[in-house]
Amino acid sequence: MPLETYVARVLAGEAARESPPAALEALAIAVRTYALANRTRHRADGFDLCDQTHCQVVRASTAVSERAAQATAGQALLFDGAPASIYYSASCGGRTERPSAVWPGAADPTYLPSQHDEACEGQPEWEAELRAADLQRALTASGFRGTLRGVRVAARNESGRVARLVVDGMTPTDVSAQDLRMAVARIPGVPQVRSATFELRLAGDVYRFTGHGNGHGVGLCVIGSVRLAAGGASAVAILERYFPGTTVSGGGARLTAVPAVRPAPPSADVAARAALPPPTPAKPEITAWLPSADDRERDALIGLASSARDELAAALGVAAPSRLTIRVHPTAGDYERATARSWFTSGALATGEIHLVPLGTLRDRGMLERTVRRQVAQAMTAPALDGRPLWVREGAALYYGDGGAGAPGGRIDARGPCPADAELAQPVSAGALAEAWARARACFARQIAAGRHWREVR
Ligand SMILES: [Zn+2]
Ligand SMILES: [Zn+2]
Repeated sequence: MPLETYVARVLAGEAARESPPAALEALAIAVRTYALANRTRHRADGFDLCDQTHCQVVRASTAVSERAAQATAGQALLFDGAPASIYYSASCGGRTERPSAVWPGAADPTYLPSQHDEACEGQPEWEAELRAADLQRALTASGFRGTLRGVRVAARNESGRVARLVVDGMTPTDVSAQDLRMAVARIPGVPQVRSATFELRLAGDVYRFTGHGNGHGVGLCVIGSVRLAAGGASAVAILERYFPGTTVSGGGARLTAVPAVRPAPPSADVAARAALPPPTPAKPEITAWLPSADDRERDALIGLASSARDELAAALGVAAPSRLTIRVHPTAGDYERATARSWFTSGALATGEIHLVPLGTLRDRGMLERTVRRQVAQAMTAPALDGRPLWVREGAALYYGDGGAGAPGGRIDARGPCPADAELAQPVSAGALAEAWARARACFARQIAAGRHWREVR
């Protein structure tokens, strides 16, 4: 893949919506620099970079991301004449972090200091309530043993982030905040601990995390860079601020696969796996196909789908389908090819199977559990709603998948016409899709509230 195509595709997923051009260009240079500095990372695998969060997630590029890649073509951040080993995250929450505080043993180069950042104003503020049982599950799934009796913050580092927590009753007895975030992220359907900048309080059996920022906080702060650009800062000024001491320089390199070892494209990988006998599912009626990197999440995914199926069978008054197949795609591009839907849609029913974008993407968006529930709801209502407009079929999925009229999101106040099929299938942006979903859901909910049976909504 040509380097600039790669940069445009990564940028499409990493940039904040409505970013001014200077912020997009700064991030394009950061994305390109990261790729160049890390291109030996997967040498043993026969390729340069993977398309998962391990390296940089690759999505479908947009006109805007392509323009930013072209405007900065070949430019990278150099330190001592070589591409700098830089990072970026969604928001530092007011102070950036040193690499070694996030990845123990990592080098702390002078161009990645922990420094105050007033640009992002500590946004976003977030709160996550985790039941003690969820924390116990998360720790156990990550290899901790014992029964959790309590969690408390044991130490903070100089950036104010939580460095370590004591987990009473477990072995080992303490965990870094970053590892706790990762452990929680592996448990489906549990609120995410979005950064290590948080206060922790126990109320009953619920741990309330109140924090700000989003992500590890090392290097460029994406939200901060958007605000700086809105205030008139150039891409170079933004990069100098977050990576002091580096210089922006031209390049012209291409990312190429090692010729001797040709990696199979992901879609071929899925096809090859599909030709093998199916893996033994935890429940006989639900089968899940996952890319190998996500394979350890198979049981959790099947568990999530099977509890959704059982609840929905009762709510809808339909028999649980004898068979459900879930296909998790290794990349957003594979998902788009398989479903003819935009990656924004997260999940889709196609050829009788539930298709999902990569689990890491769903989790990053806090959408994993909701998406699985909505898709199971859609699979179960589809036979009765065959031939209806998409807003009816998706409205049913949204309404029942999110928990029906009693759900916190069970609002019917979204106004406007029921969305056209194209607004749901090919949304122009994630924001446009969220708005179309709200209208589809409201249209559906209004008919239910008026006493109509779900099978009769049209
Ligand atoms: Zn990787
Ligand atoms: Zn910031």
